Amino acid sequence: MPKNKVNKIIVGNWKMNPRDLKEAKKWFLSIAQAVSRVKKTEIIICAPFIYLNDLKKLSRKIFLGAQDAFYGDVGPYTGEISAEMLYNSGVRYVILGHSERRSPPAGGGEDNNIINKKVKAALLGGLVPILCVGESERDKDHAYFNIVKKQVEECLRGVSKNSISKVIIAYEPVWAISSTPDRRDATPEDSKEMAIFIRKVLSGFSTPEIAKATRIIYGGSVSEKDAREFLENGGVDGALPGRASLDPNKFSEIIKICEALKN
Ligand code: PEP
Repeated sequence: MPKNKVNKIIVGNWKMNPRDLKEAKKWFLSIAQAVSRVKKTEIIICAPFIYLNDLKKLSRKIFLGAQDAFYGDVGPYTGEISAEMLYNSGVRYVILGHSERRSPPAGGGEDNNIINKKVKAALLGGLVPILCVGESERDKDHAYFNIVKKQVEECLRGVSKNSISKVIIAYEPVWAISSTPDRRDATPEDSKEMAIFIRKVLSGFSTPEIAKATRIIYGGSVSEKDAREFLENGGVDGALPGRASLDPNKFSEIIKICEALKN
């Protein structure tokens, strides 16, 4: 399993796209071809469950992620898929706590408690959780820091100190995500400030070393146009593009930008 703090990470969140397996394979192969020379960047594509098995066979360079995993073991959980099942299909990462699953219709309104169970189950099943946190809006009194603090603390409650740094934390301010009505752009400074804050929060219930080793990435309308700025000045270890990952050319360009960075 790849885990190297030196490497930067680019995660594509395909959400509920594309329409069929043929198209999914086309996108995936096009990206795989475009990034065949990439060595340092950890590339992850989080595709819908139904495509993962087939995509797995197409590239060794691109890791696969799911967009959710349930916390139960095998059993009476209609419609759910476990971390173990995903692992056995070759999946190594899973997005958990995405804002689109925290508020209906997708996910039906997951809270920190449910996400916490999923994080623990994912770790137990051998998956790297990509834990999404982020405030819906920014208020002038800076209460949004407390919202993110609560998300980090509650979603990681009970996770052993050894396992905390296995989790990738994706800071995704909901107000900057492309699907949010009247969205606005976040800046690399917003990202940097929050990444520093998240490390402080992590440090509060682990150790400064663990907080430093934990990888934090930024997501919220990252495109090939601003990826360099976020990766160079956003204080993060990578990026999580959603909409831009649906265009193989744009997504590949983001990966190449990341690969070309000095460190
Ligand atoms: C996301 O929803 O995870 C995301 C980052 O999407 P977008 O890049 O489209 O804002």
